[in-house]
Amino acid sequence: MHIVVLPGDGIGPEITAATTGVLRVASERFQLNLRLEEHPIGHASLKQFGATVQPGLLDVVRAADGLILGPTATFDFKDEARGEINPSRYFRKSLDLFANVRPARTYAGRPGRLGDFDLVVVRENTEGFYADRNMEQGNGEMLVTPDVVISLRRITRSCCERIAHAACRLAMKRRKHLTIVHKANVLKIGDGMFLAICREAARAYPGLEVDDVLVDAMMAHVVRNPDRFDVVVATNMFGDILSDLTAELSGSLGLGGSLNVGDRHAMAQAAHGSAPDIAGQDVANPVSLIQSTALLLAWHGEKSGAVRYEEAASAIEGAVAKAIAEGRATRDVGGRLGTIAAGAAIAEILQAK
Ligand code: NAD
Repeated sequence: MHIVVLPGDGIGPEITAATTGVLRVASERFQLNLRLEEHPIGHASLKQFGATVQPGLLDVVRAADGLILGPTATFDFKDEARGEINPSRYFRKSLDLFANVRPARTYAGRPGRLGDFDLVVVRENTEGFYADRNMEQGNGEMLVTPDVVISLRRITRSCCERIAHAACRLAMKRRKHLTIVHKANVLKIGDGMFLAICREAARAYPGLEVDDVLVDAMMAHVVRNPDRFDVVVATNMFGDILSDLTAELSGSLGLGGSLNVGDRHAMAQAAHGSAPDIAGQDVANPVSLIQSTALLLAWHGEKSGAVRYEEAASAIEGAVAKAIAEGRATRDVGGRLGTIAAGAAIAEILQAK
């Protein structure tokens, strides 16, 4: 499996180094024959090539079997004409990565404040209220007068259908329970269509239990009783906000994995940003990117039919859980280790099994 690795800004290089350390051990133990090809991205690329995403990189990524994108300082990148491209948006849009799969779960030895839970948010990734990706050309946010802004939200039948089926397929592999999160009481046409399409899609999956919750009420339900949810599907912005909440409820934003998936490509990405406040201090939690990478291996295994990639993914998840249970983790989740040592602890557990 050929994986392109783009370390990113801030804590990106640190958590990426911890992640590739785990991957190398997984490759050896499960004979994955991983080939990791690293390129600069974000500020490092801007400095070297005059663009946050260097010319030709998309072709390299398209030819590979998977992509690991570290967090980048997207807030700094404002002017595409000066090469300041948002790498995350660029790859999501260029590779049509329509589903953002974001699991959140609690770990033994690190019980959540709300009891144990294990859920996945499946977020639509290509349209909705994201001005940077909902137009063929230009941007979906307009300054009408100096005091008036219009922001467009795009919802299409085809995008609703494909995200609905992605969520249903995932739910069938888990506890066969799908929750549709929406605001169809106010956004009657757009979210009304999303809700109807999700319900219709779910009929094709025998035994799948389906319910729906208004997004505002969801904030209360998921905080009150997260264990009642299994797979949750939502439009882009609702899913973005909800999945940060569920990651944090699981113990830390640094724990949640995130995989962006399309029909042909997938990109593992940490659920958090580049955390400039702790960059270079060897304190960042590498688990989010490690978990995302495990999701990438599982995706490749499912797509190629090579079971050992899925086995490697489960083993990485198991090693992460064991490391956290033993307190061999970073400070944000109650441990005392630095980024590199926390990654090494996971790699060591993985190797020892
Ligand atoms: P952030 O997610 O980087 O940080 C929020 C808080 O969480 C900070 O206190 C940070 O120290 C902490 N944190 C984040 N990741 C952590 C980890 N692995 N371990 C321990 N603590 C962690 O959000 P921000 O500060 O608002 O954004 C910083 C930059 O990242 C901005 O430029 C933003 O645009 C960008 N960003 C990028 C992505 C991405 O690349 N996908 C996503 C979100 C934000």
